Amino acid sequence: MRLDPAFAPLLQGFDLEVLNKSTATIYGIWSDTRLAYYNDAWERFAHINHPGVDLATRWPLGRPIREAFGPLEAFYDDAFAHVLDDKVVWHHDFQCNSAQRFRMYHMAVYPLQAPGAERGLLLINSLTVDHPHPDTPTLPDPLAEHYRNAKGLITMCSHCRRTRQGDDDTHWDWVPNFVEHPPDDLSHGLCNICLDFYYPRP
Ligand SMILES: [Zn+2]
Repeated sequence: MRLDPAFAPLLQGFDLEVLNKSTATIYGIWSDTRLAYYNDAWERFAHINHPGVDLATRWPLGRPIREAFGPLEAFYDDAFAHVLDDKVVWHHDFQCNSAQRFRMYHMAVYPLQAPGAERGLLLINSLTVDHPHPDTPTLPDPLAEHYRNAKGLITMCSHCRRTRQGDDDTHWDWVPNFVEHPPDDLSHGLCNICLDFYYPRP
């Protein structure tokens, strides 16, 4: 658990002990997305997704989490502005798959405000679905060349982690190898299904 002391007033009304011990991944950010708080489950989640990386170095308090959003930056910017301005709780489901597991999380984002303090947000991610990934790999031993586009990049969907065949936006394959061992020159985008269903443009 880590907490920026200046952020503590924003969490008044929440039982910090309950947040810290929750199995849900919980973190707090300032209105400009700088990290200000995270609980023990967030640390475990980060270690699973970035094994061998020192969390305190990679994600010190104060680093903007928008740096991790990639192609979803505008989507989350809009959502967070809506939560802060309209003081409503916002809900969103997202996938976070590993090479073997299909995982779905439910995100709830709460507006935080305290007298004399900058505004913030509390994000709570609860695991809702976790089972073996249902898709059969399209190719058992995929050649990276098959997926590289004209610019030499391999594009993976930020949401479902399928990989695009070259520049062909209609073909996104489940390639567990690439999830487990990200190839060189990997870039992130959104496949058409995730874009239409989870991130429709207003
Ligand atoms: Zn996708």
